[in-house]
Amino acid sequence: MKNITVIGSGTMGNGIAHCFAQNEFNVQLVDLSEDQLERALAVIQKNLDRQVTKAILTEAQKDAALNRIQTSTDLDKALANADLVIEAASENIVVKEKLFRQMDAIAPADCILASNTSSISITKLASFTNRPEKVIGMHFMNPVPVMRLIEVIQGFKTEEHTRNQILDLSKQLDKIPLLAQDYPGFVANRILLPMINEAIETLFQGVGGVYEIDNMMKLGMGHPMGPLQLADFIGLDVCLSVLEVLHEGFGAAKYAPAPLLVNMVQAGNLGVKSGIGFYDYRTDRRNPTIATQFL
Ligand code: NAD
Repeated sequence: MKNITVIGSGTMGNGIAHCFAQNEFNVQLVDLSEDQLERALAVIQKNLDRQVTKAILTEAQKDAALNRIQTSTDLDKALANADLVIEAASENIVVKEKLFRQMDAIAPADCILASNTSSISITKLASFTNRPEKVIGMHFMNPVPVMRLIEVIQGFKTEEHTRNQILDLSKQLDKIPLLAQDYPGFVANRILLPMINEAIETLFQGVGGVYEIDNMMKLGMGHPMGPLQLADFIGLDVCLSVLEVLHEGFGAAKYAPAPLLVNMVQAGNLGVKSGIGFYDYRTDRRNPTIATQFL
């Protein structure tokens, strides 16, 4: 595999494009507008610069990586020679259904169709195509250039050959792939999101404050980031949608989203991306303070 098309150039898509380009793959990065693609390229450039500063890459390697990325708003063109497509568009089943139908119609017959979805069933996405054996989940972690895990999700019909190709490819990116079966939340989010939800419920009930809850998990459990700050980082809307998938998929009350989380999403307090969540990022994004509402 040499030619990779990444659909969606947001938080995850630009990171995925960055990793493939850094590892000498040709990348076509697709989004809906030129403006968004320009923003994505600027982020990639900034992140590559940081790797140069840290002596992970040389200036020449950075330039070569940037040269391997082409951007486009034209799906036909971007998919024409693809060996692998990774869909990293918005977490919305309507958007993803349309994209999987288009990817299946346009991409070469032997091209693998992967999704970076956090929670949507890979088997369902595969059902929108005529090649379910070539559909697979490649769940990268945020920030993609830094985090080494790729959760590889086997759909009900994903064939062994496809799975092995994706496991090999993940290693070529210097990542560590771990397998999960296709059930709600897969493995990573099925375990992570109930913990985050419980942290929010604990805050809501006044059992502990933001500072206490996050530091309890950092100092006591060795977590690098507390669950509330992690929720802000993931995006509270994303957290809510994963919990809804778990709640609906298993029908178990333990996955019901905390009312405080629902309220915060409805109010537009989505965490880092909106400037405020459990913490306030508006003055200093890297050193946020606890949001006044939770003091
Ligand atoms: P995002 O909102 O930052 O970016 C999504 C991008 O997709 C946007 O730039 C949007 O313009 C683009 N897009 C939407 N419809 C499109 C279309 N039809 N064609 C081309 N581009 C389209 O979202 P994100 O956080 O990068 O998430 C992307 C995917 O990755 C989601 O499925 C999400 O669940 C998953 N994911 C997110 C995280 C995270 O921490 N944010 C972690 C793992 C997986």
